[in-house]
Amino acid sequence: MKRILLAVSGLSPAVITETIYALFMEKKPVDELHVITTGGGKGKLLETVLSPYEGKLQALIDEYEMPPIDYNPQTNLHVLKDANGKEINDILTPDDNEILLTKCLQLTHEMTTRKDTTVYFLVAGGRKTMTSCLALAAQFYGRPRDRIYHVLIAPSEVERAKSTKTDRSFWYPPKEKQKYSYTDFTDGKVRTINSKDIQVNLINLPYVPARYFLSEQLMDEVKQPADLLAGLIRDEKPALTISLSERKLIFGSMLEAELTHPTWLALYTFFAVKKQECILDESCDNCEKKICFLDFNEISSSDSDIQSIRQMILKKFEEIPDEFPSVYKSFKKEASFNPAKHKINEIILNAFGQSIAPALQISDAPIPLSARTGKRTKKFGILLDRERITIEWKADKEVGTE
Ligand SMILES: [Zn+2]
Repeated sequence: MKRILLAVSGLSPAVITETIYALFMEKKPVDELHVITTGGGKGKLLETVLSPYEGKLQALIDEYEMPPIDYNPQTNLHVLKDANGKEINDILTPDDNEILLTKCLQLTHEMTTRKDTTVYFLVAGGRKTMTSCLALAAQFYGRPRDRIYHVLIAPSEVERAKSTKTDRSFWYPPKEKQKYSYTDFTDGKVRTINSKDIQVNLINLPYVPARYFLSEQLMDEVKQPADLLAGLIRDEKPALTISLSERKLIFGSMLEAELTHPTWLALYTFFAVKKQECILDESCDNCEKKICFLDFNEISSSDSDIQSIRQMILKKFEEIPDEFPSVYKSFKKEASFNPAKHKINEIILNAFGQSIAPALQISDAPIPLSARTGKRTKKFGILLDRERITIEWKADKEVGTE
């Protein structure tokens, strides 16, 4: 998996080295850096961060012995140009802004179409219009594993600080402690700070990936934001399909989770069946009364149902997989149910992201204290509306559809 950092950069390119440093510290080393910039920003970048001589990025890589980063300015520096191919020096007019937004959408679409990438969008360091355009592109095309980051330095005055020893500006915390002097904004006095006291904070901005609510057709090529927005409004609520032959959960038209373990798939399908059988009169979204939820005793006594679903799934294997531990096959005991539920929920979270996963996971709901045993118990089930769940029992190919 390649980690790509996509940044917009105006005249303060230090955010790039600061972010690469912070990601490295979080054990997320960047493999490729791409920067969208203006004619004005390009000069500044080539003199500093991306300079072939004494480049700040290469210095950072060397100093911390990071794995190599592809930042070749020939291919990875994306300078905005007008219709005549002339570089735009600054984003000043609505036309400039449209060119910028198109570039952000184009690159984001390209990078998120690649299956082997994780994209980190850096929304710090450019003009506000630049960072907003990149954030918008990320909202449309980003996948749950991609991230939008902002980077903050504390104290913030350090952005303009100089090393007292070498007169070097601050680009990232040096490996060996150094003192920096800076002008305090509050009283205008010059102060010094030790580099170990400078904090580089990476802020992970939450976002809802919109791509899974868009139709496949809209995702095929880069579209204008207006079309994308219209697509969001027009599209109906995405549904969940459980494909037993492909051993996948499919949500909407784009998003998939592989649930390859037959036992886990059987357990999840069992809950989906219970959901579909919900006898509630009104909408079963969130199922107010949790009629389609089961407590552990009910799950345990339904173990034979789960086992017959499992057998049905196993028939779809060309070879019976034997690597699965036998202890998990039966759900008569809570000790086998809990780890399976945990694993299924983890797979769903990783594939669908935090905004969608809760509706699809096996949730639990507390039920009132049992008068008889005095024990507090829980019921388990799926929150998504039964109308939006389909289980494909047959292989698609057998019924001749795609
Ligand atoms: Zn229900």
